[in-house]
Amino acid sequence: MGYSAIVKDAPGDFSVKPNIPDYKKMREEFRWEKLSEELDWFSDTQINIGHIAVDAHLKTDRRDKKALIWESQKGEVEEYTFADLSRLSNQFANVLVKQIGIQKGDRVFFFLERVPEIFIGILGTLKAGAVIGPLFSAFGPDAVKDRLADSRAKVLVTSPMLKKKIADILPSLPHLENTMVVNRRNAHLSPDDISYEAAMEQASEDFETVRTSKDDFAIMHYTSGTTGKPKGAVHAHNAIIGHYATAKYVLDLHPDDIYWCTADPGWVTGTSYGMFGPWSNGVTQVVYEGAFSAKRWYTFIEKWGVTVWYTAPTAIRMLMKAGDGLPEQFNLDSLRYTCSVGEPLNPEAVIWGQKVLGRPFHDNWWQTETGAIMIANYPVQDIKPGSMGRPFPGIHAGIVDDEFNELPEGQEGNLAVKPGWPSMFRTYWEKEDLYRSCFKNGWYITGDKARKDEDGYFYFMSRADDVINTAGHLVGPFEVESVLIEHPAVAEAGVIGKPDPIAMEVVKAFVSLKKGYTSDEDLLHDIQTFVMKRLSSAATPREIEFIDSLPKTRSGKIMRRLLKSKELGLPLGDTSTLEDD
Ligand code: ATP
Ligand code: MG
Repeated sequence: MGYSAIVKDAPGDFSVKPNIPDYKKMREEFRWEKLSEELDWFSDTQINIGHIAVDAHLKTDRRDKKALIWESQKGEVEEYTFADLSRLSNQFANVLVKQIGIQKGDRVFFFLERVPEIFIGILGTLKAGAVIGPLFSAFGPDAVKDRLADSRAKVLVTSPMLKKKIADILPSLPHLENTMVVNRRNAHLSPDDISYEAAMEQASEDFETVRTSKDDFAIMHYTSGTTGKPKGAVHAHNAIIGHYATAKYVLDLHPDDIYWCTADPGWVTGTSYGMFGPWSNGVTQVVYEGAFSAKRWYTFIEKWGVTVWYTAPTAIRMLMKAGDGLPEQFNLDSLRYTCSVGEPLNPEAVIWGQKVLGRPFHDNWWQTETGAIMIANYPVQDIKPGSMGRPFPGIHAGIVDDEFNELPEGQEGNLAVKPGWPSMFRTYWEKEDLYRSCFKNGWYITGDKARKDEDGYFYFMSRADDVINTAGHLVGPFEVESVLIEHPAVAEAGVIGKPDPIAMEVVKAFVSLKKGYTSDEDLLHDIQTFVMKRLSSAATPREIEFIDSLPKTRSGKIMRRLLKSKELGLPLGDTSTLEDD
């Protein structure tokens, strides 16, 4: 990709020694068994994520430590210790088991705002041995219906407002036996609904957590739907080993940290790293209920003294768009370590973090299917902007060709991981054939294209379906997008291959501009020249279309397939996770 700059890592606060002492050494010595011994198992084969995340701390001095500090959209604050979460999740587990009759393996879905009850409910469901399925509260009725029907969820936990939004679909879900409503504002409930508050009040605070086996299903997440119809990736309780290990060594969580993960629990990042990773490490986390706003986010970091921050490229690009002057109005000195996931992180964004926040963003790569971080930048290694970093110790990642043989360094191919890591998904819900088709020649094939350099750093190229083949050159859209957003006028860019009778495909870019710029021919040529100078003529967008904003999934990813379908006048396919503007 040819970014020459290397960001010498500046963890900043050297009084905090990184958990990972030395990448190479740790890689050589790494054993998953050793990490797993740090967790509180019931027996050699029995573990429960809910237990590890909260109850395991009750025997320690973390019992009365704050686990969750929650701030509502309106600024109300609620705080919960590990002991509080343990007690409340016990009550919720009792509601499920004693009042509703939920059994091990039943699916309990959450369609709820980012309120404390979603955390309590998820922990309680896991402790009851049932399977959680969180749904993002901004979903429309069809997205909710698809997922509830596919998973045959028995219980839906929702709120009065969200229930209203999906009222029409509920009668068409025969397996959905119960709707429980979290009624924070005392709305009028329908007689068919179970009131969360009333049920909790009747429930005992004592519950014996179900001794689930490490292979029992625990978590179901539908993927983001960036490339097609979302699939229900299923994870087992064993996944907690991966959450714990990566939160410790990649997010570098320490006992005194105040940690903020900006992902919604509706996405895998919001559970793996918005609940299980930090809590299994006994770390305090802060949660902001409200939506993105640059000002509010900076205020939140300052107010709570956030030390470790895990966010996403789309949010970082929005912060960049809000201007370099804004962060100066806040005291953000508490920030010690900043990480990003979800989409390729443009080199420009890494450098911006370093320049404006004084902390470079550490990119890491993983998927719903992998359950935990697979490839990452670490506090102890230099960042090569544009690279996702190196495989987590204990993870063997490689680049394979289309026959699934490993390729040498420098060559582009399919990003693959050797199966067997603790948080690997166990199936796509009732799509076992699709699941099996992901494993080839001893590798799990991720569906992403990438390459590896001589130092073992991986570079994301594109989704396998997004690679552009133009006049015999393979061009990754991310590379072009990254250069485009380096142009001073460009805020966001999405790049696709447009069919062409001569070149097979040509590069077409959709670009949204920063405030104060107008789209005209001059700017268009200027942008083209800018890309040409930095990349090549093959990679230079033949066409540039200026648009107000790019279509994104609700998890914030640019939906290139939608840009392409629109361009070609094709059906749009599954748009259930499309963000509406
Ligand atoms: P679907 O599988 O339904 O198309 P999705 O792949 O977007 O949706 P997720 O599992 O949420 O659903 O996203 C994982 C994908 O996100 C990865 O396979 C990769 O394409 C992209 N991704 C995540 N992190 C990074 C990163 N650091 N750099 C580049 N791409 C990333
Ligand atoms: Mg995917």
